[in-house]
This record gives sequence, C-alpha cells and structure tokens, in this order.
Amino acid sequence: MTAVRVDLDARAYELDRSHVFHSWSAQAALHPVVLAGGRGCRVWDHAGREYLDFASQMVNVNIGHQHPVVTAAIADQAARLATIGPATANLQRGEAAQRITALAPDGMDKVFFTNGGADANENAIRMARLHTGRDKVLSTYRSYHGNTGAAVVATGDWRRMPNEYARGHVHFFGPYLYRSEFWASSPEEESERALRHLERVVQCEGPSTIAAILLETVPGTAGILVPPPGYLAGVRAIADRYGIVLILDEVMCGFGRTGRWFAFDGYDVRPDLITFAKGVNSGYVPVGGVVISDAIARTFDDTVFPGGLTYSGHPLAAASIVAALDVMADEGIVAHAERIGRTALGPALAELAGDCPVIGEVRGEGVFWAVELVADRATREPVSAATMARVKSDLIARGYLPFLADNRIHVAPPCVVTEAEVAEGAAILRDVLTALSAEEI
Ligand code: PLP
Repeated sequence: MTAVRVDLDARAYELDRSHVFHSWSAQAALHPVVLAGGRGCRVWDHAGREYLDFASQMVNVNIGHQHPVVTAAIADQAARLATIGPATANLQRGEAAQRITALAPDGMDKVFFTNGGADANENAIRMARLHTGRDKVLSTYRSYHGNTGAAVVATGDWRRMPNEYARGHVHFFGPYLYRSEFWASSPEEESERALRHLERVVQCEGPSTIAAILLETVPGTAGILVPPPGYLAGVRAIADRYGIVLILDEVMCGFGRTGRWFAFDGYDVRPDLITFAKGVNSGYVPVGGVVISDAIARTFDDTVFPGGLTYSGHPLAAASIVAALDVMADEGIVAHAERIGRTALGPALAELAGDCPVIGEVRGEGVFWAVELVADRATREPVSAATMARVKSDLIARGYLPFLADNRIHVAPPCVVTEAEVAEGAAILRDVLTALSAEEI
C-alpha cells in the first residue's frame, strides 16, 4: 500500500514538472512539495509524510485545512446549483454579503465580489476613480496588492517589473521603524514623520489629481509591518483633508489573521473601501471582493459600474464564505488567534530571537509574524538569498512548510493553531536557525 502511495507522489511530481507552469518561479529550479491531504494545521503527501503548515499555504487558510462544515457546504451547494451568472440574485451570495457587511463599520452595506485579491484592488481603484473623477492612486513602496494590471503597479515591491499599466500611480514610504526611512527612533516619531512625508507627497502630486490612497492595514508580504500608534488615523485625516478615498487592503491581514476580524478594528480608522479575499473563506474556493461605503455605492445608483467577471459572486464561493464565517464565529476562532499570538506564538518567537543572533527583529500580532534574519545585528544587513534558500530546504526537510520573503520567515499558521503545534513549529525553527547562527552566515 505504501509503495503505491509513494508511486502516486512520484507521479504527481513528474506530472507537475512536465506540464505545470508555476507562478512566481524560475521553472528549472523548482522542487514543489507534493500534497494530497490535510486537516487543521497539517498537510501530507500520498505516502503520509506530514508537514506543519506554518504558511497557511498563501497566508489564507485561516480556519485550517478541510474544515468539515465548510467542505460540506460547498458539496451541498455544488449538488444544488454549481454555477450561475453574476446578474442573477441568489440566497447564498446575499447571505455572504450580509455576513461580511455585518463585520464592517456602519455605513458600509454593499459588497462587490471578485475572484481574488488582485481584482478586488483593481475594482476598488476603479470605483475610487469614478467616484472622485480623479486619476492618481498612492500606495507604499513596501506593499503587495496583487498581480494584475493596476494591482501590480500599485504594489510597491514590484515596481521594478515591466508593465504597461503604470498610469497615475505614485508611491510613498510607509512606517517601518526597524529600517526607518525617516531616521526615527521611536514608533511615535516614525508615525509622525511618515505622516508628514505622506502629506508632502499629496501636496506635491496635487490633491485634486488623487483619487485614492491604497494601503494594506498591516503590510503582509512586504514584511508584516504593524503600523505605529496614530499612523492609520493620521492617514484617514489626510484623506479627509484632501477629499481622497481611503482603500484598506485586508486581503492578507483580514478575517482573524491579526486576532481581529478586520485588522483595522484595532485602530482608530474607518476606510471608504475594504478589499478582501483569502481568509474570508480560507481559500476553499477562489473569491475576493470590495466592501463599499454607502457614499461611494450611491455614485453608481444611476451610473453603470463597468466592472465584473463571469464568476463574480460564484455560488460555491458564496456558500463557502457563509460557512467559513459561521464556523469562525461559532468556534471563537478570531479570539483564539489573538490569544495564541499573545500567549504562545509571540513569546516563543521572542525567546527564539533572544537565543539566535541571526534574528534581527521579530514583529507581528495574532498569527501574523515576521522573523527578520540579519547577517549582522549592528548593521542590520539582511542575510543572503543563499542563506534563505538553505533555511527553506532545512525547514521543509524537518516537516515545516514556510512562507519566506526576502530575508524574512513569515510565521503565519492557521488561526486554529494549538499551543502544542506552536511549540513544535518553534522547535523546528530553533533547530534550523541555531544551526545557522553557529556558522558564518
Ligand atoms: N493584497 C494583498 C495584501 C495580498 O497579500 C495579496 C496576495 O497575497 C493580494 C492583494 C492579491 O491577492 P490574490 O493573489 O488573491 O489576487
């Protein structure tokens, strides 16, 4: 039996390497892990080799793998009506929109559904442009907003990529105290100076040309940069001062990841548009969307909103959202993420930082943490790409699936991670990083 399963793993690997063209990869150097099943925080291959999924795949499997209530809801919907077009009305889609708006601030009563996070940002940008009659969009250099047309241009991290859409996008520096652009020495100073910088950018670009400021509430892929005190409220004030739409991108940080339903619930800020995807249904079916303020929604009462795709508001996605959000509420998953971050995951990573000189900084909240690796703590010089490649293969070899970005390990297990799993994951990280610290990096 095991031999047969090993054969399935070999076949899956061979088929993949022969015929699948992977995203975000140089194809020749790829060695994808074969996955055949999963439950909670664990996934496994056909032969039963297990991995602790401390990446939640793409930081999206917030309720853990294969929650039976959600998979049953998808199967049930598939058996009744597997597909319908977006222009129809459907109970599950309405219920999904109602569940999401119930979590949003008052006066945000409509949801536009998309297929994922990038097209949520695309459509939010389009709404802001049509609502204001202005063109420019401001976003931060350290950001990731997706990999389609306007979303890739809004993404600060990837400005270096060639693209044909770079119209009306301007970047600015957000707060990042560990590598401050503002020579700040405290979170308060970083916040104040970053706000002054943003306001200067707005003034220099011409406020009457700026439709939107697009921000990840907690920038994720670019470093899990928890905003300092006063920053988001200050951005809101700048947006208000100049009539600019504030779009908060909650694609990665929303739906429990930070230990709150929306990450912005922890700050004194109210967005005009919220973009979401990933955690809303833990990625069981592709979906995303935009939660829209009543003022912006009214713009389109008598004016056509020119956006939408064949699968917008797909019934399988809608059914999975309803089930996933109900499960999160019924099982207290968001409160669990907050508690486990505060009492187990955060302390475990802080302890690790104390013991491993290769760790420059640990930061985060809930189940959303970055461990920044440096060759030298004094200069904060990042470790090399070769070191990160070694960290990656060592972690996988020990049964830990990581999310790595630049010189960082992003520790982002499902929100349901247990104390025992935190201890297990931290022990693997310790093994790998201690081995590194002991040698020349
Ligand atoms: N916005 C943020 C903050 C993200 O982290 C991502 C993906 O990682 C996206 C947008 C794009 O989402 P998708 O890959 O579903 O298009």
